[in-house]
Order: sequence, then C-alpha cells, then structure tokens
Amino acid sequence: MAAPDQLWVNLHAATMAPGTPYGTIPDAAILVRDGSISWIGPRAEAPNLAAGGTTQIHDARGAWVTPGLVDCHTHLVHGGSRAREWEMRLAGEGYEAIARAGGGILSTVRATRALDEDALAAESLPRLDALLAEGVTTVEIKSGYGLDTPTELRMLAAARRLGRMRGVTVRTTFLGAHATPPGWDADAYMDLLIRETLPQAHAAGLADAVDAFCERIAFTPAQVRRLFEAARGMGLPVKLHAEQLSNSGGAALLAECGGLSADHLEHLDDAGVAALAASGSVAVLLPGAYYMLRETQAPPVEALRRAGVPMAVATDCNPGTSPLCSPLLAMNMACTLFGLSPEEALAGFTRQAARALGLHDRGGPTSACGAWGTRRSWPMRWACRGWLGPLWEGTPDDREPAHHTRPARAGPVLPVLADGGAAAHADEQPGPRRGRASAGPGGVRRHRPRRPQLGGV
Ligand SMILES: [Zn+2]
Repeated sequence: MAAPDQLWVNLHAATMAPGTPYGTIPDAAILVRDGSISWIGPRAEAPNLAAGGTTQIHDARGAWVTPGLVDCHTHLVHGGSRAREWEMRLAGEGYEAIARAGGGILSTVRATRALDEDALAAESLPRLDALLAEGVTTVEIKSGYGLDTPTELRMLAAARRLGRMRGVTVRTTFLGAHATPPGWDADAYMDLLIRETLPQAHAAGLADAVDAFCERIAFTPAQVRRLFEAARGMGLPVKLHAEQLSNSGGAALLAECGGLSADHLEHLDDAGVAALAASGSVAVLLPGAYYMLRETQAPPVEALRRAGVPMAVATDCNPGTSPLCSPLLAMNMACTLFGLSPEEALAGFTRQAARALGLHDRGGPTSACGAWGTRRSWPMRWACRGWLGPLWEGTPDDREPAHHTRPARAGPVLPVLADGGAAAHADEQPGPRRGRASAGPGGVRRHRPRRPQLGGV
C-alpha cells in the first residue's frame, strides 16, 4: 500500500526563486508524496488539504523553510591539523619558516598519505557533521592532499563513503593539480595526472568534476589547459581555483572551456568578469580564506553583479587557509567582507551553489529553487536571521521551539524531490536525514529533528 501523503503547513517558504525577495511564499504548504516533495505553494491552494484520511498533516510551527544549503567548495577530507601554523603566523613567522618547521600544504599531504580509507573517513566525518548541523544537504569534496595516484583515489573514495554514511549528496572533485609534490617537475607531474591518476579516478567512478590551482605558486594556464582537455575528453566538467593571489588569466581559461565555476577571484580583472559573464560560469566566493589570510583585496563583487555573473558562496573548509566548517559564518562573512546582500548570500549557498556543481536545471516543479529539491526548515521568525550565523542567536524573537535540540540551528530536512532528474550515482541519492514523528495533541503529527551527530566517530 502506498504511504500516505505528508502535508507540511504553518510555514513560510523562502524558495529563492527569482522575482520576489527570497522567492517568499508566506503561509505556505509543502506536499510530500512517496518520500519526495511534489508540490510547494500557498497553503490556501494546497492539494489534498480536504482529502481526509489519506494525508498526514505536519505543523511546522511557523518555521521558515529554505532550500537545503549546498557547500560547493570544500577540502574537508584530509589528515592532520595545521592549527600550530596559525599560531606561528600570528607570532610573525613567515611562510618559509613554517615550511621548514614541517608546516604548509605538504604537512597535510604527509598526514593524509598516512591514513587508509577508513581512517580518512573517520577523521573527516566531524567536519561533515558540522556542515550538516547548520543546514547543508549537498556538499562538494575535493581531493588534492595525496599528490600521488593511490592517495588521490583514496581521498575521493573516502568522500563518497561520507555521503553514504550520512545519506547526503556528496559531489567529488579531482584536484590532483593542487600542488606539485616534492621532487617533481610541474610538467612531469601534470603528465602523470593526465596519463594515470585522472583516468583511474574516472574509471572507478570517483570524480564528478576536475579542478586545479592556477597560480604562480602552483600551475600555469598552459598546464591547466592540458588537464582540462583531458577532463573534457572524459566528459568531466571543470572548475578552477583562479585569481586568488594574482591575476593569471585562469578565469578566462575556465570560461573558454565552458567550466562550471571559477573560485576565489580576489584578483579578477574586467576581462575575466566579462569572460565569466559570457560563459555563464559561476563565481564562487570564499570569504573564509580571505579572512584567514588577512587579504586586503576583495573579489570585484560589484562588477560581477553588474555583469550578471552568478555568485556562489562556500566554506572552502580546509586545514590551512580556511579551517571553517560553518556555512552560516561563511554567508555572514560574504556580506560583511565582500558586500553581498543577505539574499545574495543565501542564493549563493543554495541556487547558485547548485549551479556551480552542475545540479541546476534538473526539472520538476520546484527545481527553480535550486538545491536539488531538498529543503531546510529554520525555527526563526524572520527570514534572514536563520542563516546569518551566531550574531542573532538567542534574541527573544528567535527563541527556538521547545522541541528543537541544540546545537543544531537548522530544522529537519524535508524529503528529496524525486522528479528532479537522476542522480549520478545510485548509492548517493540525496536521502532525508529522518527525524522521529509522533502524534501531537489533536492528532497532528509533529516532526522532531534528530539530534545531529557532532563528532560521532
Ligand atoms: Zn579550495
């Protein structure tokens, strides 16, 4: 027998669909059929409302419901910690002194190579859980701390496993071209990636996209172009760490290749903005790294806005330059440091982030909301307060309902939109993280969010 329909009422939907601020539907309803969102709109127009016993009604207690958050740029799978480096930097030590003391990216490479897949997943799980506790339902995870074939593949496999462990969508990105490993020439290493590492990752179904670090301390546009040609030959979309420390033309290359996104972009020039606008690629802004490195040149947000380039925001969660596992703080920083509006920041962590992962345009009645059909509910009475980080936490208007369990600020994930198109991998279909439902007074079934498993390794 088919499961009864579930109708969520007493909520406000910030659909993020263009046209009205936040795409708001006040006093909305969401219909869930066969475990998937099948309808969202004004409560007065809700189907099945008068259908009697075949529909279960859930009271969302005035929550705001948004698309699930999409963290479209992370390096959260890795071994070790580099907190000590931060202390050294604050004490005035320079890059070379830190490297001589065993720090820098190569210290993460050493720590990552030492871990098997089980240990890598176990060390990385608390970072994923921190993202999930703040409302993330889809996360991108890059390799790039192996810099050899076995470890790069192991990182991607660990990332896939994390998605299965938590029932969330993980998109993996091959970032073998993150740095040149010790003892290698950059061209020779790029040859290895093109000849061996990337083909093996692709053959094993471990890479959803290909990324590189295009910078004077990493790889040149010419070297990146060779990698991109190999990726496109395999049908893999490309992304790029571009113009973070200098303007090296990476964004224009990415745009020329029709890539999904150019990320960082502090030093992007007008030509780069125009190239991104023409290609439709997303500009991914990463305020955590900007903050951590105490940069002074912000990405050209006003020029991007004027040119109509979609802007996404992500945590860039990584052990060195952005040890940040808070999407709410990332959105807050995007406003305070980069000048995004709160609405742009939320669109950047939902609709535009989905686009940066190639997950937009999947069809279905609510796919315009981005975020692949999942929805987060927030026990907040005013739309922007839920996602601007801890600054508004605890104010009287935002008191959480009694059933809401700290430390999660996000409420339950509503089920996934089934008609949003097929997922790339059957084993990582974005599934609901189910809470417990119990009958409340008057037979209204109330949804109890599951306690997030912070540090649950
Ligand atoms: Zn990055």
